[in-house]
Amino acid sequence: MKLHEYQAKGVFADAGIPTPDSELAETVEEVVAAADRIGYPVAVKAQVQVGGRGKAGGIELADDEDEARSAAESILGMDLKGYHVDRVLVEDAVDFTNELYVGVTMDRGEGKPVAMVSTRGGVDIEEVAAEDPDAIAREHVDPSFGLHPYQARRAVYDAGVEDAVARDVASVLTTLYQLWDGRDGADAEINPLMVTAADEVVAADAVFNVDEDALFRQPEMADMEEESASGDELERKADEYGFDYVRLDGNVGIIGNGAGLVMTTLDLVDHYGGAPANFLDVGGGAKAERVSNALDMVFSDPNVDSVVFNIFGGITRGDEVAKGINAALEGFDEIPDPVVVRLAGTNAEEGMEILNTDLVEVESTLEDAVQRAVELATEVEA
Ligand code: GDP
Ligand code: MN
Repeated sequence: MKLHEYQAKGVFADAGIPTPDSELAETVEEVVAAADRIGYPVAVKAQVQVGGRGKAGGIELADDEDEARSAAESILGMDLKGYHVDRVLVEDAVDFTNELYVGVTMDRGEGKPVAMVSTRGGVDIEEVAAEDPDAIAREHVDPSFGLHPYQARRAVYDAGVEDAVARDVASVLTTLYQLWDGRDGADAEINPLMVTAADEVVAADAVFNVDEDALFRQPEMADMEEESASGDELERKADEYGFDYVRLDGNVGIIGNGAGLVMTTLDLVDHYGGAPANFLDVGGGAKAERVSNALDMVFSDPNVDSVVFNIFGGITRGDEVAKGINAALEGFDEIPDPVVVRLAGTNAEEGMEILNTDLVEVESTLEDAVQRAVELATEVEA
């Protein structure tokens, strides 16, 4: 579960990490009022849970009321990488000399938490990790002892952080580790941690993802989830329908019954040169209502250009699934994206005969179905 930037900043600030003065706003007037209170210049930042908002036009700096107004007008209501922006964070714009990165996550390879520092902040840290892994200083942590003070200092020193702020950066890293550990974090990240001309450090961005399986013992985090879930229409829908759903950034919608089957379909879409738009497991028993809810999910994603439906009939027989798919598609006035179906297992033959080929394309192997869906998605793109 991901916190919004404003929520993560609240958690960080409460723990003593310096953050800019800020206020959440939902309308242009609220933005202007907030900016007035905070004082210009301000940064107006879209509150959606995706990285790279800066490059995508979701962050603007404003020096006066006119600029704040026009920033608010262009960001509020915009579509940012498929997310509707309904709130912005208005914050004191930091005048910085340097952008650092600090982060804590689980290093699965080592089986240990890892605390990281880099002087190459402000850009996508995954890119830095791929191009120049030595630019990120890493300290593995024994969770029963926590991050030792000498480790925090060594990470800061190894990263080459300037002396004037070294002590402060080590202290931010220590606090970030304590939050990650104490609040059941999955990833905690400040990118950028800005260095100001006065040699102070300020968390200009904040990421905090919580381990969902620990939410039962993190009531404060669970409350924030409710607040943040309202941001994404599709994830809220998935919750309502009771689906396991993960949104991805491609354009081939994927529906299957069983997590393994869906994962396999995802891999095959990638294998044939396509890009999956989502993971969606409808679970056992593909009754018409569940099928139609699943289709509603993928059709509502504006990024989807084609859909592949991969069903393995076990206890649920193929002919029943086929009836479900027909009934679901007949319920739509217009089918927004082409749907390719592959049925296998119990009564698959009967199912394929029942499927209404005016509404769907039918393929007898998974490979063919995936290739066809990738082809259809590419045609739409072109
Ligand atoms: P992200 O693109 O979604 O990771 O959003 P960030 O909050 O990291 O902002 C991206 C970039 O916008 C930063 O690296 C800065 O260059 C710039 N930026 C964000 N906040 C401020 C600010 O308060 N002052 C200034 N001058 N630049 C900012
Ligand atoms: Mn950032």
